[in-house]
Amino acid sequence: MKIYELLIKNRKSNVLTSSQLRCLSKIPTINITSGCIHNCIYCYAKGYSQYPGDGKVILFDNTADKLKQELARKRKKPQAVYFCPSCDPFQPVSEILDQTYNAMESLLRADIGVQFVTKAIVPANFIKLFVRYSNLVCAQVGLTCVDDDIRKIFEPGTASVSDKLLTLQNLIEVGVATGARADPLIYGVMDSDKSLIALFSAIIETGVTEVSINYLFLRPIIKESIKKNISDKKLLDKLLKSYAKGDKIPIGVKNSQGVALPKEIREKAFERIKNMASGFGLSIRICGCKNSDITTESCNLTRPMKIALFDFTRPRSCIS
Ligand code: SF4
Repeated sequence: MKIYELLIKNRKSNVLTSSQLRCLSKIPTINITSGCIHNCIYCYAKGYSQYPGDGKVILFDNTADKLKQELARKRKKPQAVYFCPSCDPFQPVSEILDQTYNAMESLLRADIGVQFVTKAIVPANFIKLFVRYSNLVCAQVGLTCVDDDIRKIFEPGTASVSDKLLTLQNLIEVGVATGARADPLIYGVMDSDKSLIALFSAIIETGVTEVSINYLFLRPIIKESIKKNISDKKLLDKLLKSYAKGDKIPIGVKNSQGVALPKEIREKAFERIKNMASGFGLSIRICGCKNSDITTESCNLTRPMKIALFDFTRPRSCIS
């Protein structure tokens, strides 16, 4: 059943843009759509001025063509491009996937890296493309728990847990630098020992060895969305109560800040999670942007590209 409205528009502004988010500041970014059919209730893009409203997605159908023109004009090409700061590049809609495919293919052909986070299935034609350019592709797949009932409450339109795990495995198998992204974890809902053991057991089976984590970061628009969308009052109260004494953290976008769980809670929880993960042979990366009061770690949302020294005929690869 279709639960979104797809609007097709022509993009007037540049395709490649810079982001003010610290973790995205190193490479240009592309948004294939405004709005996202995944409709995650914690989506920070809901607060952006260009957000078209829940259930609406605007696809810019000249993105791939415009990107080619922009690249041709550039004297210095970017090392890599990030897809997408405000939407998922693999939303399962053929028109969206076509634009994403054409844009990614143009970049890879030009020896420019492609980096992305997705909560969708990466379709087979992309996997086939990535086989040829695996050294230029870096991926993260969002997976916060292995319980589909909980997933559906927080991110109703995303791929099922089994499809996300299969996507992780497919990317690893073709040599793409791939990590799992457990962000946002919901305190008291997704982070019990039992839930994390189930999550880490499933992740390690895919061949992935790195998990980036962060707890939900509350901004006013996200709080509003959560209140509107969680009908289970007990769950809602539990979730919001844990932020009552939260810490305000700046996130590098103008004067923007959000509320994180209290510092002591995060420190204790991250230590427990790291210890637990290491028992599975997984390394944990904490998002330093949203936890700048306790760490400078990078969650590898984007990764620096490594250029082979002395041998400039060899292509770049992601440092993982
Ligand atoms: S997948 Fe990402 S962009 Fe899409 S709704 Fe979820 S959080 Fe927002």
